[in-house]
Amino acid sequence: MRTASGIPISVTRKRMKSIRLRIKATDASVHLSAPYHVSERVLYAFVQEREAWILKQRERAKGLPQAKPIDNSSKARKALLERVQRLAPQWEQHLGVKASSYSVRLMKSRWGSCNIRTKKIALSMMLADRTDTLLEYVLVHELVHLREPGHNRRFYQFMEDAIPNWRALHKELHGE
Ligand SMILES: [Zn+2]
Repeated sequence: MRTASGIPISVTRKRMKSIRLRIKATDASVHLSAPYHVSERVLYAFVQEREAWILKQRERAKGLPQAKPIDNSSKARKALLERVQRLAPQWEQHLGVKASSYSVRLMKSRWGSCNIRTKKIALSMMLADRTDTLLEYVLVHELVHLREPGHNRRFYQFMEDAIPNWRALHKELHGE
């Protein structure tokens, strides 16, 4: 989809209640997420009504300093892994699960991953400059997958019990 002046917009359908329009601060790209039931026509109208806002936000984003490169030095990797290993035991105990190993990786599109079969958990080096609270949130998310593989009701109930304010942390992490 494009705005009347031709700015490209990426559209994602999600299970959500209302339409959300977001300008990414890092590259000024425009992202629209919408519930499945909203028609293309409605989405198009939604975007056109907000074109002035989109242009303004894009100008702002372009003026921001670009995201700093990720420090992937062995020193940074070791430091992050140590933080993970310090935080993990209490959460493993709390959730009644145990990962077979933890590693840190240069992942740019995701904060963490969990292999359900091998029980290996990997955390992104992007977490190196985030607080323990945010690191813990990602860690707990991956550990909960050892109890519930899917992002379903049961999964979110575990999250809710472990970290009641996880939604706020999610937003902070994803810059929303
Ligand atoms: Zn997940």
